[in-house]
Amino acid sequence: MAPGIVSSTESNPELSGAMSSREIIVLDGGFATQLSCHVSQPIDGDVLWSARFLATDPEAVIDTHVDFLRAGADLIITNTYQASIDLFMKHLNLSEKESYNLIKKAAELAHTAVTRYMEEFPGSRKPLVVGSVGPYGASLHDGSEYNGSYAATTPIETIRAWHIPRIDALIEGGVELLAIETIPCRAEAEMLVKLLKDKYPQMRAWLSFSISQDGKSIAYGEPFQETARYCYDLNPEQLVAIGINCTAPKHIESLIFGINQGRSNSLPLIVYPNSGESYIVEMGWINRDKCEPVETYIPSWLDLGVTWVGGCCRTYAIDVTRIRREVQKWKQSHLCK
Ligand SMILES: [Zn+2]
Repeated sequence: MAPGIVSSTESNPELSGAMSSREIIVLDGGFATQLSCHVSQPIDGDVLWSARFLATDPEAVIDTHVDFLRAGADLIITNTYQASIDLFMKHLNLSEKESYNLIKKAAELAHTAVTRYMEEFPGSRKPLVVGSVGPYGASLHDGSEYNGSYAATTPIETIRAWHIPRIDALIEGGVELLAIETIPCRAEAEMLVKLLKDKYPQMRAWLSFSISQDGKSIAYGEPFQETARYCYDLNPEQLVAIGINCTAPKHIESLIFGINQGRSNSLPLIVYPNSGESYIVEMGWINRDKCEPVETYIPSWLDLGVTWVGGCCRTYAIDVTRIRREVQKWKQSHLCK
């Protein structure tokens, strides 16, 4: 870890407060989705996805973060899901050092957004800057983060070595927490949870899985509840939450139901689904009109103990506002009881 980096809770006392009570934390939404309101170039289908705009349009990146903060998000997640040293070297013609610095810059752009938001709304609770750590499979650009197929063919040491420089850069850029997200397989999750302990003992993170198409297991086929419990128990000190992202909202309830039954140390749960739309390579996102809005599911997830909730792909800032509203309503109805 670079010198001068302090622990996530030291740098943001709000975080330790939020984690010690049944406070509900509202995440942001789909970064690439909201970014599309600020740029005209296509984002989906790009090998770098939204990460390209760190280099080409940093102001649009800041504006996207600010949209989520104005919408009521308690935190923003850096635009680094699809960022990696090798992809930046290959597709932006950057050196290794320049690629590292661009990832670091993603964290700095998020902090700039927080500064602008705090100037606009002085006295607000300071939002957290969370570093997105997407899976190795996202860099393969073949959809394998949604099936985990690389788990069988890629040595875990390769995956580990690929992850380290991005995490280093995010921490050096000042993120206060890591979002280890859309992880499709147990091997990568387990490695990352252990890496946190071995190499980043001052950093906290959440761990979130991607789910199989049928909604019955994590993407690579391992059972969700067993895998989540196993990974959490490896490192409960550093994991602030564990859960599911970028899956259809309709699958969530059955996946998390009963996960804490019989446990003395409950898993803190995080859920940030996509809109439920389907992505077809030739057509893009389809069937939005057939999906129940994400916010309609919020009360039932909160009833099941979820404490971190937001949106992933195809959720906009307006969806964050609706999620925030449902959280407020749920809290009020529980205070009255
Ligand atoms: Zn997503």
